[in-house]
Amino acid sequence: MKRIGILTSGGDASGMNPTIRAVTRYAIYKGLEVVGFYEGFKGLIENNCVTLNLNSVGGIVDRGGTILYSARSEFFKTREGQLKAIENLKKNCIDGLVVIGGDGSFRGAHDLHLQGVKVVGIPATIDNDIPGTDYSIGFDTALNVIKDLISKIRDTATSHDRIFVIEVMGRSSGIIAVNAGLACGADYILIPEIEVDLIKIAEAIRKHREGKRHILILVAEGAAKAEDVASSIKLLVGHEVRVSVLGHIQRGGSPSALDRILSAQFGEKAIDVLLEGKSDCMVAIQGTEIKIVDFDYVFENRKDVDRNLYNLAHILSL
Ligand code: ATP
Repeated sequence: MKRIGILTSGGDASGMNPTIRAVTRYAIYKGLEVVGFYEGFKGLIENNCVTLNLNSVGGIVDRGGTILYSARSEFFKTREGQLKAIENLKKNCIDGLVVIGGDGSFRGAHDLHLQGVKVVGIPATIDNDIPGTDYSIGFDTALNVIKDLISKIRDTATSHDRIFVIEVMGRSSGIIAVNAGLACGADYILIPEIEVDLIKIAEAIRKHREGKRHILILVAEGAAKAEDVASSIKLLVGHEVRVSVLGHIQRGGSPSALDRILSAQFGEKAIDVLLEGKSDCMVAIQGTEIKIVDFDYVFENRKDVDRNLYNLAHILSL
């Protein structure tokens, strides 16, 4: 192995930049050359790339987003698109590819593997919904961003005796909502995995409001629309309800210390995996250990929300 490629794909996650830095610098330390492809698989198809050296990844350890940019490419899912990508990998003499992204990106990487390309994935998605790894890059930063935003909302909620419905990301998974809810002391958490009865929540809020000057209801975007929840609660409780949809702010910001450390560990492991001749797998953290998990495991499993954390958040909000 002499020359590797690297790309960031799917939804951006804070921590992708320190990951690019770690992969590049560790690869160079191991005697490899590194080529960065812009905009994920799209850049692979368009041969839009740049040679990365020690300096090109300088000053990015604390920057959110990704200097290689990200994109979604439907064309890459076709045979024609993948053949073009492989042609460009050959043209650039790439012996191994590091794909930084979520499970969709890993499916793309798996397709390349089936056609003879050595690939390794680094899990990076704020949703932290990739099976086989306790954490993915970007989750901790997103949680910290949400924590700071909700602290600000709590200040105004308390001052004005308000009920707030706050929508956080999580189209098909409540993992962000549950962790953020626990960290922020939310009173109720609505997630796609667990059905809730708004009438019961409204009854509880009426009791709950005695002695409390704020009620915070966290809604994962896949569970319900914050506006709809707010109108129902307003109707049932008879009290003013405000809505705050946090939106894309949750993706941005300087990576947290934890995400930067994980980036370094994942970057090192990804290069070691390629140098050992392995492919079709992702790096992962399980407990405190950095491991390798086959893509098959990722595709065949689903990461469930931690129901103990969900229950605990509600017990502690009493
Ligand atoms: P996130 O979960 O943060 O959005 P992701 O990696 O899952 O990240 P996707 O949009 O699902 O994001 O996938 C990124 C890209 O990976 C797609 O635009 C496409 O090019 C490629 N891809 C996704 N699914 C497949 C698939 N089944 N086969 C081949 N390529 C795929």
